[in-house]
Amino acid sequence: MNRGGGLTDRIRRAIKDPVLPGNVLRATNTSLKKRDETVAERPDWEDLRERAAKVKDHVLANLDRYLAEFVENARLRGAHVHFAKDAAAARRIITELARRKGATRILKAKSMATEEVELNQAFTARGFTPLETDLGEFIVQLRDEPPSHITAPALHCSAEQIRDLFAREGVTDGRAPTDRRELATWLSLSARAHLRDRLLEADLGITGANFLVAETGTVALIENEGNIRLTVTSTPVTVSLVGIDKLLPKLTDLATMLPLLTRSATGQRMTSYFQLISGALDEHHIVLLDNGRIDALRDPENREILRCIRCGACMNVCPVYRTVGGHAYGWTYPGPIGSLLSPLWRGRGEDHQLPFLSSLCGACTDICPVKIPIHEHLLRMRREAVSAGRRGIPERLAFRIFRYVMQRPGLYRRAARITKRLLPAAARAGLLRRWTDTRAAPQPAPRSFKEMWREDGPRFSKDP
Ligand code: SF4
Repeated sequence: MNRGGGLTDRIRRAIKDPVLPGNVLRATNTSLKKRDETVAERPDWEDLRERAAKVKDHVLANLDRYLAEFVENARLRGAHVHFAKDAAAARRIITELARRKGATRILKAKSMATEEVELNQAFTARGFTPLETDLGEFIVQLRDEPPSHITAPALHCSAEQIRDLFAREGVTDGRAPTDRRELATWLSLSARAHLRDRLLEADLGITGANFLVAETGTVALIENEGNIRLTVTSTPVTVSLVGIDKLLPKLTDLATMLPLLTRSATGQRMTSYFQLISGALDEHHIVLLDNGRIDALRDPENREILRCIRCGACMNVCPVYRTVGGHAYGWTYPGPIGSLLSPLWRGRGEDHQLPFLSSLCGACTDICPVKIPIHEHLLRMRREAVSAGRRGIPERLAFRIFRYVMQRPGLYRRAARITKRLLPAAARAGLLRRWTDTRAAPQPAPRSFKEMWREDGPRFSKDP
């Protein structure tokens, strides 16, 4: 499964994949269970969410001030700060740096910003193959596909698929434990042994960042594998590509953000490693990425979407993501938040259909640690897509007919009687297959509400 083809093709491929939906469901269930357990330990969870939303709103409303403060403090501590207006500028700055430094062996820590600007493709076009050091990213790199989740890039793969992949690619000699629990550990250790020497030989390291702290010019990174720490310490030059929406005003704001992020993302009280980089590296370049963020900020309706701290929880809980996985969405950011960010930041024709990939159940809004009312924005973006004439002619026609019928009670009653008779026959004849392939055929109620009211009267009127 990869991102090729149109949206409908990708969704169809995902649903028909024999293993993908099961893998995604298993992995997201595990994440949610751990998340729920660790969130339950924090009676102040709602206060934390409230505080985090306020901090993000404040920094987004004063972004120019905090950006200037960050740049000044990062430079004071010896970092080189660059600005990238768009993806092309980010690619140019980083590949040019690699060329100037004569870098040949490039390491990459997991970073959605680098995925967003397609940095690997830019390196490959110049003859470099950056080595992904995060286990999930390493797996998807071997599979020649993009990540399918923002915190767990290979969440769509089973341990058995990874076992076979590693054997095929020479990461292991093919002899693997048969016990499933042992297998997962063995796979991690095999990747570690395979990557370790290469990690120590590289000459340029690339990271993203979880947060930027304005008052200290700090780049904050959390991880579980130690690969980021190795990437930044074993290479003479480090480049951090970071979206400008990752800014926080103060170091103490991390005390609010980190418990929310780690619990929501992986169900951990804290990740195994936590890096605060403030000028301690030999040579540190920080590339601040706009790529649509400033335009999104200018619109007050969109501003709160940029509160996102990329925990991935809205994906884990979304019934659509849980069925089709991340590649079906077609860009770096899948799931409910991706359905908002892709139209905003990338804005290609197909991206405007993504807000329709939602049941609007509101589970994403309930789980979001920074209280983004995700489903309300999805609904708004649907309205905007309809107003802009971005929906297909059949759908627009269907809704026009629906509106016409709903405004005429006599016609509505006749249409309801006919539909009731025709629906089961249409389902039997396979005319509703596009719906019934993945869902139960809708069954009309034996009696309509009006019939019940007429025949039985207001039976429940005395109930409280
Ligand atoms: S929108 Fe909220 S839940 Fe989704 S990734 Fe961002 S912070 Fe996490």
